[in-house]
Amino acid sequence: MSNIELNWLEGDYLRKKVLIVILLILILSLSMSFVIYAKEAYINGEQLNVRSGPGTAFDAIGKVNPPDVYPILKETEDWVKIDYNGQTGWVSKDYVTIEESDLITKDNPNNSQVNEQRSIIPPGLHGKVIVIDPGHGGRDVGAISVSEDFESTYTLKTAKVLAEFLEANGAIVHFTREDDRYITLFSRSTFANTVHADAFLSIHYNSTPEHPEVAGVSTFFYNSRDQSLAEIVQDGIITETGMENRGIKQADLQVLRTNHRPGILLELGFLSNQQEENHIRSRIFLEAVSTGVVTGLQQYFQN
Ligand SMILES: [Zn+2]
Repeated sequence: MSNIELNWLEGDYLRKKVLIVILLILILSLSMSFVIYAKEAYINGEQLNVRSGPGTAFDAIGKVNPPDVYPILKETEDWVKIDYNGQTGWVSKDYVTIEESDLITKDNPNNSQVNEQRSIIPPGLHGKVIVIDPGHGGRDVGAISVSEDFESTYTLKTAKVLAEFLEANGAIVHFTREDDRYITLFSRSTFANTVHADAFLSIHYNSTPEHPEVAGVSTFFYNSRDQSLAEIVQDGIITETGMENRGIKQADLQVLRTNHRPGILLELGFLSNQQEENHIRSRIFLEAVSTGVVTGLQQYFQN
């Protein structure tokens, strides 16, 4: 081979090498665009205006309310563009909390990675993050029972047994409190948002000292989205405990309202009813409640 030929071949080899590197960079940057996590806007402001553009000079085209969450499509310094019920609109960053979402943006519904992620999640409670919120605590003792025990003591006892049962079924359990201490309602719900709870369960007991005969279990929800969660868990508890079914109710409870995660509040019986309190004291009762909640959640997550 002549020297000229050799130089040409070396040049060709180099060019090929450069091409491969460019190709690799291209492939890498393409695949990176699929692993970018989407952001979501958690609405904090009541009746927050959605505008046609990023500024108050733009027309208001609708309103959003907490605890709604919308996918973020674009961001400027002070405004975010949201996917708002199939339309797009802008809301001020002053009234939203921006969080990374676990799933990839709704714009790529056919993204294979999303589908893969979904299909490998086992059904039921396995791997689900459950926040248990034992109601009251510390200087806030809650209701006082016929036997002069505190609601805050009963809710904590219940929470501990419930956690055992949830963990035995593969759930990842967090408590808002694990001992007798005072915690604000706000930090309870913030905690659920921070750990991205799949379900938030606030545990309470009821009391109507003026009507000591009143008994039974009820479940509260705030966001209509959580009605099915309330229904299914209430049914589970009633089936397992055989207690009086006081049904589910929608109520504006702060611990649920400021909570952006699926959440319910359980009123597991009346401490003002002596018979019911005796029942609530027993481990058998706590186990029955826990089995009921586990059964309900398993169905909820399977749907
Ligand atoms: Zn309470």
